Amino acid sequence: MDETKKKKSLWHTSYGHRILFFLPLLFTSFSPASAQIRIFIETDLEGVSGVYRFAQTREKDTPANLQACEYFMGDLAAVVRGLRDGGATEILIIDGHGTQAIIPHLMEPGARYVTGKPRPESNHWGLDSTYSGVVMFGFHAMNGTPDGVLNHTQSSKTENKYWYNGVESGELAQTATIAGYFGVPPILVTGDVATCREAVKFFGNNIVTVATKQGLSREAAVLYPFAETRKALYEGSKRAIAAIPKCKPYLIKTPINAKMEYIDLKDTSPSPKIITREWAIPSAIQLLDK
Ligand SMILES: [Zn+2]
Repeated sequence: MDETKKKKSLWHTSYGHRILFFLPLLFTSFSPASAQIRIFIETDLEGVSGVYRFAQTREKDTPANLQACEYFMGDLAAVVRGLRDGGATEILIIDGHGTQAIIPHLMEPGARYVTGKPRPESNHWGLDSTYSGVVMFGFHAMNGTPDGVLNHTQSSKTENKYWYNGVESGELAQTATIAGYFGVPPILVTGDVATCREAVKFFGNNIVTVATKQGLSREAAVLYPFAETRKALYEGSKRAIAAIPKCKPYLIKTPINAKMEYIDLKDTSPSPKIITREWAIPSAIQLLDK
């Protein structure tokens, strides 16, 4: 009887000590000012697992497109879980593909999803300097990349090509330039092997990349099973949060000397005319302004 009482009181004492010991730690590690990690996800459809034909991405709500959007949501859920488990406290997802890809009933909890058109400031919706990192999800390599699945820059129909200060650039560099205006670094790129290679070329070795397939040509690929890509996407997303301190914003010198080439669709001859346009862009935020 006495023995039990003694044990009980000892337990209470040590428990009390433990509470007192952990209390200051609880306050320091959960202080709201230090714990905010806000992540901005710009999405595209061409670089998602299982997507390799323009028939899946160009026309909205066809059976092939709806299925591709399901693949998109499955990949996206893995990324949201990985970022959350890595420590992200807030995630904003932008539906970036032209015909839109978000399927509401498949949204993974723990993020906000922006979709539909038109949207105010559609090129940089809600992005500001409070974000810790940008994720470019489901992206594709720039126009003309031989092993880039569905490679293009802005428009595959007119075969657009862009140069900024003499450097040929695709949608990865374009998106990162706008994020760079706000001082936000790219931290994670997902897409085919060629997209990952392009990301490292532009953003350096510290960016985390996750390959979802390997391109053989514009509409042929070695596909990786979904269970494998989603595991890699989850793990890569978790690593991307840890990589934030090493990632630098992508900055280019202003005013930007811009050059663009595109096919004149009015020219119906076998080798249609290519139109070249050159202009100056005063600030990175205006990069994609028409
Ligand atoms: Zn797209």
